[in-house]
Formats: sequence, C-alpha cells, structure tokens
Amino acid sequence: MKTIFQKIIDGEIPSDKVFENEQIIAIKDINPQAPIHLLIIAKKPIPSLAAITPEDGPLMAEMMQVAGDLARKFKIENGFRLLTNNGTTAGQTIFHLHFH
Ligand code: AMP
Repeated sequence: MKTIFQKIIDGEIPSDKVFENEQIIAIKDINPQAPIHLLIIAKKPIPSLAAITPEDGPLMAEMMQVAGDLARKFKIENGFRLLTNNGTTAGQTIFHLHFH
C-alpha cells in the first residue's frame, strides 16, 4: 500500500509544493509545528533513515543541500532545525524517508 507521501509524489493527492526535482519533493507540512515547517521527501521509497545504504549517499547530500536552499528561500537560514523521526518510538508516522 502506498504511503501518503508516495501518493503526493505520484500526484494522486494535492500538496503545497515548494520544491521538486527528479529525486526530491519538498512540501509544506499540513500540521505545522513551527511558523515555517517543510518536509523534504526522497522520491525513492526508503522507509526511514536507518534503511539507507551507501548508494543513497548522493541523495542524502542532495536532501541536505535542498534544506539549505529552502532555508534561504524562506529566509530562515540563520535559525532552523533539520530532523527526521526514525521509527514509531521516535514518533515517525509516515514510513517514507523525509526530513522536517
Ligand atoms: P513523521 O511523523 O516524522 O513521519 O512526519 C510526518 C509528517 O507529515 C507530520 O508532520 C504530518 O503533519 C505530515 N503530513 C501528514 N500528511 C500530510 C499531507 N497530506 N501533507 C503534508 N504533510 C502531511
């Protein structure tokens, strides 16, 4: 069964998209916990950070770069947090790799 993020990537449900390229999509969180709360989502269906492999290195680097680019775009480059919840114990609810 597809995750919510897979449905967003596939264009099956709407999102407030702020960035997209071949590997990554970034959207506004539907339930923001901060004045600016974005989600940087890998298009590759990796369930969580613990599941990445060495071949995902370039993708991880690109996600970090997108985080910096979006921080500048939203003018929060002087103060932001970047995090991922890994596993239900940590509060992960959507098992498709993303950074808040
Ligand atoms: P996590 O709990 O770390 O897996 O993060 C999932 C995040 O996705 C939460 O912050 C939710 O508010 C957010 N979320 C869930 N559904 C949507 C949606 N349709 N569009 C945007 N954000 C969503």
